Amino acid sequence: MIALSLAEIAEIVGGQSYDIPDPSVQVTGSVVIDSRLVAPGSLFAAFAGEHVDGHDYARVAYEAGAVAVLAARPVGVPAIVVDDVQGALGALAREVVRCLGTDVVALTGSSGKTSTKDLIAQVLQRHAPTVYTPGSLNNEIGLPLTALTATSETRHLVLEMGARGIGHIRYLTGLTPPRIGLVLNVGTAHIGEFGGREQIAEAKGELVEVLPQDGCAVLNADDPLVRAMAPRTEARVLLFGEAEDADVRAENVRLTDAGQPSFRLHTPSGCSDVTLRLYGEHHVSNALAAAAVAHELGMSADEIARALSEAGTLSRWRMEVTERPDGVTVVNDAYNANPESMRAALRALAAMGKGRRTWAVLGPMAELGDESLAEHDAVGRLAVRLNVSKLVAVGDREASWLQLGAYNEGSWGEESVHVSDAQAAVDLLRSELRPGDVVLVKASRSIGLERVALALLDGG
Ligand code: ATP
Ligand code: MG
Repeated sequence: MIALSLAEIAEIVGGQSYDIPDPSVQVTGSVVIDSRLVAPGSLFAAFAGEHVDGHDYARVAYEAGAVAVLAARPVGVPAIVVDDVQGALGALAREVVRCLGTDVVALTGSSGKTSTKDLIAQVLQRHAPTVYTPGSLNNEIGLPLTALTATSETRHLVLEMGARGIGHIRYLTGLTPPRIGLVLNVGTAHIGEFGGREQIAEAKGELVEVLPQDGCAVLNADDPLVRAMAPRTEARVLLFGEAEDADVRAENVRLTDAGQPSFRLHTPSGCSDVTLRLYGEHHVSNALAAAAVAHELGMSADEIARALSEAGTLSRWRMEVTERPDGVTVVNDAYNANPESMRAALRALAAMGKGRRTWAVLGPMAELGDESLAEHDAVGRLAVRLNVSKLVAVGDREASWLQLGAYNEGSWGEESVHVSDAQAAVDLLRSELRPGDVVLVKASRSIGLERVALALLDGG
């Protein structure tokens, strides 16, 4: 963070100073909400969570070197006290980003935000110092915390924004107003909470509504609900996708034998060839989105193509491919799942598994509301259509829908198995896997199916 005195911070957040002997002392480190991450010079923001109250850790944080605590009540050590700690954190982020004048790139979408954010960060970093969301910290707390790590060196700030309802993106963009706003796709993630795809599009489109006239809305030409957002912005629109009229597009898309997408990248400033180091065709769309942002920020097609071709995975458990010494390949995509990402992962598995036995170890996709049965059924059927050798459906009700879908699609009896939990899946796989097999592991976050992938990699 840029150095700010406690007096300046108190003024920005409209807080009262308590137990602060010298208000000119500066916060020189980062703002943290976990007392274990406090380093000398930090500001500790105390949040009252469901299980833990940060205020109880104020002294620990102070003793670890925090200059002061941003808190909802006096805590016996130097504190700036506000009514609403989250609001204060946001106000601080807004002011710091405003002072720095950093260009903000914000992105949202149903699937692929973190993957795309990581690609954008790796491409832009070649161009100028870039700060970006670590992992998936895309909410009203993670976003300001990330923005507050920007310094006077930072040229680009790349921020993932998650939307769980109407008004959510609007709130986040108010904290860190973007000049470039990217919408990846409108899928069915969290559809149960939103009520329908139109509502999801309504909520995600808030991102382009807030862009300034000299800004740029980067929209997915291949997704009708995203394309339809163009009239909602005053900013210039840059389309990406495989559609003919996309400004940044991919031609000759194919998967290499290893399952990595390769394509010819076209941007308004030139063309260049790209082979990604990531797995799955869905990353073509993510890479084009990153290319469009990089183009907007002045990078050439060659520079972008080189950077994309060298970019790896930054965030865990997203199509993480590991080859075991015995020749079994484990694809850990257990970070999360929704219908679109399930389909993309299954297609990647099929491409990687040419001539090899393929296993899809799949668990429930959460938060699908009324669509749940149909979506699980469709994924089970797709596994059969893609000739996946074995489906292992893990869990309760949803797993039985997956299995039934596969069964109803035809001929599958022994090829699909339903097991109750991760441990049962591990036991089964340990006894059945043969050298050369490819295993995909995927389900919604709450199931923790990464345990299967980790167990398979830990001594087989
Ligand atoms: P979250 O909402 O959990 O933060 P996210 O939008 O950040 O998710 P990622 O973490 O990048 O998305 O990816 C989540 C899952 O979606 C992964 O399984 C990944 O393989 C898959 N995925 C990534 N990009 C796409 C895409 N463009 N279309 C469909 N699925 C995708
Ligand atoms: Mg994410």
